[in-house]
Amino acid sequence: MKINIAIDGPSAAGKSTISELLAQRLNYVHLDTGAMYRCTAMKALQCGIALDDEQGVVDMLADTEIRMTPDGTVFLDGQDVTAAIRRDEISMAASDVSKHKEVRRVLVERQQKLAAEKGYIMDGRDIGTVVLKDAEVKIYLTASSYARALRRLKQNRENGISDVDLETIQKEIEARDYQDMHRENSPLTKAEDAVEVDSSDLTIEETVERIMALAMPFIAAEETV
Ligand code: C5P
Repeated sequence: MKINIAIDGPSAAGKSTISELLAQRLNYVHLDTGAMYRCTAMKALQCGIALDDEQGVVDMLADTEIRMTPDGTVFLDGQDVTAAIRRDEISMAASDVSKHKEVRRVLVERQQKLAAEKGYIMDGRDIGTVVLKDAEVKIYLTASSYARALRRLKQNRENGISDVDLETIQKEIEARDYQDMHRENSPLTKAEDAVEVDSSDLTIEETVERIMALAMPFIAAEETV
């Protein structure tokens, strides 16, 4: 038997990268729930649906297919949008559509259906508190906004984006943190039974090792069942 691992935390804390590496190590499936909110926002913008039009976005979702392959490719209605959904304007738009209760209900239902069988590493904002309340291992992955902005700047440079400075990136990260933590529906918060891992001074490998050490006893216990 396998377990489920929930990884929540603020934006740019490295949740996706760490989850992907954990999934490879454990032979589990990684589900990046942020990508689902990003696809929702991108399609709404393309279709001219206002981000605050809750019913309009919900109706749109009824006719929307979001699919993710094990190698991390994201398909929106059959189109590869892996890179497009990472654009800065989509980040804040995703945070805007994710405020709506009904939008969350639709996407949470899809996420729960996918992870009904165990063996998932799911990352997002409400995984430990709402989506997989019964996950065996819950991690709240965080880092200072400065450390997160530095990582994003480095990532941008690697992708040939050099027109946004560190201060702007840090401000954008803090604005999105504030919006995600203060919304009415499923605000980002550490689940009571989650373990906080601060990766500000840890390398990616060290962060993976720390989470592996936390998860191994639960994985070993399941393997003997
Ligand atoms: O994780 P990522 O930065 O890709 O998420 C984009 C936005 O989607 C977040 O800022 C957040 O507002 C929203 N989100 C959410 N619940 C999740 C995952 C993402 O509200 N489980």
